Amino acid sequence: MANYPTKRLRRLRYNPLLRDMVRETELSKNDFIYPLFVVPGEKVKNPVKSMPGVFQLSVDELVKECKEVESLGIPAVILFGIPEHKDEQGSEAYDPNGIIQKAVRAIKSEVKNLLVITDVCLCEYTSHGHCGLLNGEEILNDETVELLVIESLSHVEAGADIVAPSDMMDGRIAAIRKAFDEKGFNKTPIISYAAKFSSGYYGPFRDAAESTPAFGDRRSHQMDIANSLEALREVEEDIEEGADIVMVKPAGPYLDIIRQVKDKFGMPTAAYQVSGEYAMIKAASQNGWIDEERVMLESLIAIKRAGADMFLTYFAKDAAKWIDKNKK
Ligand SMILES: [Zn+2]
Repeated sequence: MANYPTKRLRRLRYNPLLRDMVRETELSKNDFIYPLFVVPGEKVKNPVKSMPGVFQLSVDELVKECKEVESLGIPAVILFGIPEHKDEQGSEAYDPNGIIQKAVRAIKSEVKNLLVITDVCLCEYTSHGHCGLLNGEEILNDETVELLVIESLSHVEAGADIVAPSDMMDGRIAAIRKAFDEKGFNKTPIISYAAKFSSGYYGPFRDAAESTPAFGDRRSHQMDIANSLEALREVEEDIEEGADIVMVKPAGPYLDIIRQVKDKFGMPTAAYQVSGEYAMIKAASQNGWIDEERVMLESLIAIKRAGADMFLTYFAKDAAKWIDKNKK
């Protein structure tokens, strides 16, 4: 270090007030989107074993939860539905009286200051657990997109503020955008799961959403974990098709992708801190191996520092409470 001892980077680190002043990245509640799982029935609050603190909720309980989320100052929830019946076509996904449609109507009528985002896919609704219609073991792209369009429309007709297609079929953003514009929903934004990797970190989510495929896996539509240039092509495609916000999923193991997406496109960028990322932090802290609060905050700041403007995280409530306690 040629400039030492005049240059001493530690000068800014001795005083906590000064450390606060020079901090580059701050968490804000405005960044948080809280994922919720809705199930049929009443007064249902099933704990998800692999995700401590996360529950499957019936609509009545979901509304209560959303009121708490609103009161904590978290601006948005994203909903995943577990239907009464599953079939090969995933019919309940686009039934106007399906579980998500009912949930959206209930939240929008009782909770005023909360954005309701709906996940759009078929895998929670199909008996085979795949994200689309099948021909043998192949997932049909264009036929699936037609159903995703109907599903998206049914969500916004129920009152959803934003839809988030997670299916990774080609061309679905353009198709949904076109249908929205034709049906008078030209002001409804789309968050696209633009670079969604075929990740082992989704394991606990499949307990929560009951969406494990009956055979095979999702590698024919989700991305190969090893590819970053392809991730940029996926994101570019969705932006051209009309996505308003692009998402990278998972978040923590893909910080390089988040940074590249942000730098290349400058779009509002979301990241999904997925179930496995959450479960690992929870499990290690329950064993006393790490400090949960500290690692939670570190994981979220890392995602923001990488370039995410907002993140979907099961820690949203805990992090909002931490902000209330600690921010001046
Ligand atoms: Zn899916």
